[in-house]
Amino acid sequence: MARPDGYTAFVNGGLGKRLAATLGLPQPVPLRRHSPGAAPADGPVLVGGHADTPAIAGLRAGLTAAGVTLTETVPEGIRLGGVVVDLTAAVTPADLESLRATLAPALKRLGRCARVVVVGRHPADASSVPERAARRALEGITRSVGKELRAGATANLVLVTEGTEAAALGTVLFLLSGRSAYVDGQVFRVGSDRATADGADPERPLAGKVAVVTGAARGIGADIARTLGRDGATVVCVDVPAAGGSLAAVANEVGGTALQVDVTADDAGARIAAHARTRHGGLDVVVHNAGITRDRLLANTDAERWASVLDVNLLSILRMNEALLAADGLRDGGRMVLVSSIAGIAGNRGQSSYAASKAGVIGLVDGYAADEGLVARGITVNAVAPGFIETEMTARIPLATREIGRRLNSLAQGGLPVDVAETIAFFAADAQAAVSGTVVRVCGQSLLGA
Ligand code: NAD
Repeated sequence: MARPDGYTAFVNGGLGKRLAATLGLPQPVPLRRHSPGAAPADGPVLVGGHADTPAIAGLRAGLTAAGVTLTETVPEGIRLGGVVVDLTAAVTPADLESLRATLAPALKRLGRCARVVVVGRHPADASSVPERAARRALEGITRSVGKELRAGATANLVLVTEGTEAAALGTVLFLLSGRSAYVDGQVFRVGSDRATADGADPERPLAGKVAVVTGAARGIGADIARTLGRDGATVVCVDVPAAGGSLAAVANEVGGTALQVDVTADDAGARIAAHARTRHGGLDVVVHNAGITRDRLLANTDAERWASVLDVNLLSILRMNEALLAADGLRDGGRMVLVSSIAGIAGNRGQSSYAASKAGVIGLVDGYAADEGLVARGITVNAVAPGFIETEMTARIPLATREIGRRLNSLAQGGLPVDVAETIAFFAADAQAAVSGTVVRVCGQSLLGA
């Protein structure tokens, strides 16, 4: 699953490495990705910032229990696996100094593919204007650090709510691990209203769950099925009848079942829910991944092209969810994850229909996550917005454009389908009960968009 592209492989060899350094070319490194049994972080993790807040006390205990080695100083001769900085007590921009003071020496001592995780509070909950400014400033700092880091290291921000900091532990662990290899420069919002249901086996957090993945015959969908299966879920793999052969192969590989359904069919949702119920006893996780592009400049886009993209990528989700979110569909405490795109955030030349559909997906997340009925049932709804991911969809892009798309991000390489799948598996776990209504870009901090 995890193969670097040809250029990345070249610049990590002897001659290529020297050539890239001499010519000042991008020097991507093979990213640290999760493998079963891997340590939760790759080296000791420095904890700093406002060192004695409830947020950091809870995190320290949780990280230690999860097997992370913590340190409060930068040990001589040792490379750090990561830095976690707690800024939850910041009340004015002057308090940001403790972030600088922690990060400045630590950044020089980071190991390959290390992680910077900043923990702060939601700006909207601030009780004064200076406090709101300080909280918001964390986003700018984290994103800048992400752009300064080299050698596969990433920086992300986790916003927590007062009193429920424990719910952030799963997010911080995800960010320290190889599961978040291509997640960079992102803001993770952890809500307040639910305790973290934990105690799951960290290697099989989805054990006993039934998950449906649409568009599972190939590309990102196939790796979502593999990753959810690896994490313990029984996976129902859905794709069009024309992809039946590869769909069956993926379903067999993950020990799940295949269901040939066109997601645009009126009865698609009802058929998926019925299959999950009758074959597997219910439904816990739905991943709406199936998607298409029909790229043209808007001036050259006819009604048929426009409608097909909107229908597969957006309207089908609305229609299917009538059955999937009904009482006999997704179980209480269920998880729904949608696949958007950075094109839906930044827009893209020639992709107005696709961008409309993928921005619409973000609207769906906002709408469902605020739905009181779904909140009462403990159902969370989140989305991933992939950037440039190495799949058949992106292999069709002309070479020069493809190479630009691949390099224009902080990690100077395209992501792999498994990178998107890992973030989806993160959202799908019981431990993420307090994470809903968020959109996380899996884009290596692409320079396109926000
Ligand atoms: P892909 O074309 O390789 O695979 C898409 C799968 O969806 C195929 O197996 C296809 O048969 C299936 N599908 C299409 N229409 C369907 C329908 N009507 N009913 C059921 N199945 C259908 O694409 P991919 O690159 O794996 O993309 C997966 C998702 O990720 C899509 O939603 C795409 O928009 C999104 N995405 C991809 C990238 C990228 O760089 N590859 C970037 C951003 C977002």
